[in-house]
Amino acid sequence: MNIRQKNWNIIVNNSFDVVIIGGGINGASVYRELSRQGYKVLLVEKGDFSCGTSQSSAMMIWGGLLYLKNLAFLSVYSLSNDRDKMINFFQDQITEKYFRYISNEKWGRNKYLAYFALQLYWMMSAFRRERPKFEKKFEELDFLNQQNSNESILYQEGFLKESDCRLILDWIIENQTENCLAINYCSIQNATYNNKDKFWSVDLKDHFLNNECKIKTKVILNCAGVWTDAVNEQFGIYSPYKHVFSKGVFIGYKRPENHNVPLIFEMGEHGDTLTFIPWGPISLWGPTETKVNSIDEGFKIIPEDIEFLLKQASRNLKFSLAQSPIVSMRCGLRPLVVKKTFKFDCYPLSLSRKYKIVKDENTPWISIYGGKISGCLSMAAKVEKEIRSKFFPNLHRVLNTKVKNAKNETVRTNFPGLIDKVPSIEWCVKREFCCTLEDYLRRRTNISQWIAREGLGFQNENLEFLENLASYLPLRKQDHGDSPVIEYRRKVEEEFDNIIKKINK
Ligand SMILES: Cc1cc2nc3c(=O)[nH]c(=O)nc-3n(C[C@H](O)[C@H](O)[C@H](O)COP(=O)(O)OP(=O)(O)OC[C@H]3O[C@@H](n4cnc5c(N)ncnc54)[C@H](O)[C@@H]3O)c2cc1C
Repeated sequence: MNIRQKNWNIIVNNSFDVVIIGGGINGASVYRELSRQGYKVLLVEKGDFSCGTSQSSAMMIWGGLLYLKNLAFLSVYSLSNDRDKMINFFQDQITEKYFRYISNEKWGRNKYLAYFALQLYWMMSAFRRERPKFEKKFEELDFLNQQNSNESILYQEGFLKESDCRLILDWIIENQTENCLAINYCSIQNATYNNKDKFWSVDLKDHFLNNECKIKTKVILNCAGVWTDAVNEQFGIYSPYKHVFSKGVFIGYKRPENHNVPLIFEMGEHGDTLTFIPWGPISLWGPTETKVNSIDEGFKIIPEDIEFLLKQASRNLKFSLAQSPIVSMRCGLRPLVVKKTFKFDCYPLSLSRKYKIVKDENTPWISIYGGKISGCLSMAAKVEKEIRSKFFPNLHRVLNTKVKNAKNETVRTNFPGLIDKVPSIEWCVKREFCCTLEDYLRRRTNISQWIAREGLGFQNENLEFLENLASYLPLRKQDHGDSPVIEYRRKVEEEFDNIIKKINK
């Protein structure tokens, strides 16, 4: 029996202290914290873990450099602290990394001002990282458009070693105990609060196997990212805050040989920057920062996004699309917290990237708005404190014991075109809640980002390989019609090939 089925069997008719809605970085970090503090907790994710915004980040664990612009020194101090804690605590997943700010005096900031800001940034992290320095000669110059960009300042931040999805999955799996469970492809259908007995009666639906069950919980925590408002509305919860949305798109190119350090370029508008990030065999270029009005619009890449990125790339890099075709794309929607009455008519970068913890006045329901991967540890600690003080003042539990960390036992295998081995699909199905081909190719491994056309290859050369992988997937109750690979290929043609065709016209 795989881990998902096992968990479902334990969940049925069980009762919990806290149910978390949403398995992105916010949900996973709170799940980890509550699990460690001895709560009985269930995390439900309507799709796959980290299938929302958290699968499309830039994977930087940063110390709040952006906030220096507004002289928010306290925020920079505390975010730098969080960053360095994360680097120290999670050495398997996060590493310190040099970043290179590329100065550009034609349309960017004055390089001495940037240098001064980075020195201040370094001081605000209590000198824990290396001191920023100018570097005129560096290997990445080979592929820069040197007419515009030719000098750099080297400084340090944190960076995810494997991926954003891996961090989330590791936190979910490692912090499972006999009391703490998570399940993907599952959501709350109904939730009624019983004022007398002080618990929520919850109807759960398993969308993968089409099962239903009832559970009880004392507290519900809404960590649904850009869907937070929709979930609150579904259950009649009022909030004085709301989310507005900013779409962020990256494109992935084959990584140039001497690209080893993330590069930060001035965009020349709105004080914004673009990054070129080496990641496995590719380099990510982006992200965009586009105000959008709806969630559907926000998760859809359109040719204009790519054209914008290509235009910006040609100003800063020596590539052209013909020489180096796009290998992959990624798109996420930033949930930005604002007051309910806020009218969104500004460039999204000017809005705060901080989080807000909002408690419902009538029921034990807490919503998390905004937030980032950086700083998620202190957000989770604050949420736990809030829950403890309001609902569990006498909680004196023995800390939950973790399940054995099975990371070192992971069974690994080859995938055509990748040098390093990846976790095998059998392992991911049995131990890591993998249900679909996309779960495996995008979130258990980085195959769909690192190999052209979501892993299919430019000429569909990996089709047969994917057919073989798909044979290990668990059967869906209502499986019908086309095979998973045919469905997958159709999606790639619609979402990837069509855009490439349009921009090549
Ligand atoms: C382009 C881009 C680059 C970024 N780069 C960085 C970076 O370098 N560093 C950084 O710190 N931050 C970065 N961010 C920000 C960061 O990625 C997001 O703030 C963060 O991932 C949001 O996490 P979340 O958990 O709130 O939302 P999500 O990841 O979207 O998670 C919410 C989850 O809730 C689930 N859900 C929704 N409704 C329900 C329901 N009814 N029942 C059950 N589950 C439900 C969804 O399926 C989803 O998985 C970046 C963002 C973007 C877009």
